[in-house]
Amino acid sequence: MPINIKLEPTLVKCQFCKQNQPIKNIVITEIEDGTLLYTCPQCYGLIHTCRTCEYVKTCNFLTDTSEPPIINQTVRQGPMIMQTQVKNPHLIDKHCISCRCSYGDKGDCHREYETGINCSSYKFATELLND
Ligand SMILES: [Zn+2]
Repeated sequence: MPINIKLEPTLVKCQFCKQNQPIKNIVITEIEDGTLLYTCPQCYGLIHTCRTCEYVKTCNFLTDTSEPPIINQTVRQGPMIMQTQVKNPHLIDKHCISCRCSYGDKGDCHREYETGINCSSYKFATELLND
């Protein structure tokens, strides 16, 4: 009597990057509406980073063209006077302080470190992985 064995496919498509991956490389599978969803290790590593956060679509700091984003600042250190480049504080006050991607009271940006792990605003957006 023949036995029907349904074999898993050897290549499966990652739900995020849509690349075909050998099934042995797949990290997680989920079942959604009866369909198996696969995630490759690369995409799995990006989950909970800014790359997969819905809020990183636009950055008002970078898209505001009214002022340069980086300005020269003169810093005095003892007898030395140095020129250094800093992020424009006007733009930080205008955009970053109230941005959900910033933390602390200086408008420091989670996006600069590409991590949302410590970010309370992280919201998963699958379409961001498609680039
Ligand atoms: Zn993938």
